[in-house]
Amino acid sequence: MKHNGFEIKVSDILNSKVTDTITFENRMIPELENLTKEGVSWTITIQSLDHESLFVTLDVECELNDICDRCWDEYRRKVSIEGYTAKYVTEQDPTVKDDEDEILFIDVKLGIIDVEELIYHAIQLEEPFVKHCEKCAALPVEEEDEEENDWL
Ligand SMILES: [Zn+2]
Repeated sequence: MKHNGFEIKVSDILNSKVTDTITFENRMIPELENLTKEGVSWTITIQSLDHESLFVTLDVECELNDICDRCWDEYRRKVSIEGYTAKYVTEQDPTVKDDEDEILFIDVKLGIIDVEELIYHAIQLEEPFVKHCEKCAALPVEEEDEEENDWL
């Protein structure tokens, strides 16, 4: 079994109707190439819905090294996500559709969930349409529009 530091044992949570909150700090996600060396920290609350599914609530904190769209300077973009929710299920039922929450799978054989993908998705969803460093973000909006028009 590969260990990536993102696995959480959930067999006990599934079987007894308990809620568990677990905090992880400073973990690296290889797919996030611009992640700062401090890594990602998160707190996950896992709630058993029945013996076959879990409802998770996720808070994530990290910083990413991004390039400003305006001045091309590198800057640290703080990502702070609160209350990102998803469901982990034991098997895929194609008739079940959930528009609100992301659905992921429980590794039933090992009794674990791997939250790396979940955290990666949560961070990807926070990706802003326009990336501005602190200096450029403080500039008036009108000027910004003009510059964007020049690109067209
Ligand atoms: Zn800038």
